[in-house]
Amino acid sequence: MTKFKNIQMVDLKSQHQKIKPEVDAAIKDVIDSGAFIRGKHVGEFERELARFLGVNHVIGCANGTDALQIALMALDLKPGDEVITPDFTFIATVEVVALLGFKPILVDVDINDFTIDIDSLRAAITPKTRAIIPVHLFGQCANMEAIMQIADEHNLFVVEDTAQALGSTYTFSDGRKQSAGAIGHFGCTSFFPSKNLGCFGDGGAIFTNDEQLANEVRSIANHGMRVRYHHDRIGVNSRLDTIQAAILRIKLKHLAQYNAARQQAASRYDRLFGSISQLQIPQRVSWSDHIFHQYTLRLLDGNRQKLVDTLKGLNIPAMVYYPIPLHRQKAFQPFVAGSKVANYPNSLLLSRQVFSLPMHTELNTELQEYIAEHVIKSL
Ligand SMILES: *Cc1c(COP(=O)(O)O)cnc(C)c1O
Repeated sequence: MTKFKNIQMVDLKSQHQKIKPEVDAAIKDVIDSGAFIRGKHVGEFERELARFLGVNHVIGCANGTDALQIALMALDLKPGDEVITPDFTFIATVEVVALLGFKPILVDVDINDFTIDIDSLRAAITPKTRAIIPVHLFGQCANMEAIMQIADEHNLFVVEDTAQALGSTYTFSDGRKQSAGAIGHFGCTSFFPSKNLGCFGDGGAIFTNDEQLANEVRSIANHGMRVRYHHDRIGVNSRLDTIQAAILRIKLKHLAQYNAARQQAASRYDRLFGSISQLQIPQRVSWSDHIFHQYTLRLLDGNRQKLVDTLKGLNIPAMVYYPIPLHRQKAFQPFVAGSKVANYPNSLLLSRQVFSLPMHTELNTELQEYIAEHVIKSL
């Protein structure tokens, strides 16, 4: 029998124990105030997150998918306009493009860092291209310097999907540093509980340095209204609840330390797996730090399904993000059929090789050694 009975992909309970009194007090404060919608914590959190990221405007909303949708709505695109996204990402990134009547153009990713491949991105640009949505997958930024240069050349909008990389820092070739999500026209994030900054339910936010775009987003998220009951455009209802904002204010103070704990855990995994020839540990890029929303290995040689099943039998969770690339998803066939750029060798290979191990702020050497020992034995 092992002492590790209940290993989690993400151990939110232990993390919560350490801040419980503060969180309980904050929730009570909201309940006592009765201001559940647009209470003072929402504005305070938006300002505090803006300061943390070094961005001019943060607008809270109901979840990360809404954040992406609202950002795209603010760009004034027309039906049929093309929006480029990576093929290897969570569905939300691409879903909102299609939902709004734009045309998602899926492109392949880099085999080493899993983010959008720059050559494939260039090859996918047409006169109809209007925007790019790079995804900072698993906690590491896409090559934003190259992406912003391409966007400049072709007059494109850039909406960063930073749901998995909040608090990651990007370093430009001249040494300038900026937060993930603060580089493009918009950054979009999610506060889903398991994200690096998670609340106790759903939540999301949009960032921008452009005041006009910020005003547009605030209006869209509030029924297309700036002055009460004057609706200037078709909007949606998407709000960050006051209780979630109050919780996020507390957790934001710990985010840098949470991300550092994930990085330490990743280094420990690296040491344990670095010399195993069947496995490839996560590759780091020069332009971004990696804050390990996921610790994702490639099984270069072996049967992944068998590995994941064996680990499951030992009560060690291992997850596959993502098992089916978007170009193989039924819902996206209409966008892939007949596309000239529909060639995804890397995305397809990754979908067959990757698996992610428990990654959170509460891991320790003993537990990771236990996990690694069994992963290696099960190869
Ligand atoms: C989680 C996530 C989203 C969506 O966030 P929700 O809050 O669940 O809507 C979007 N993109 C990526 C890459 C994500 O990981």
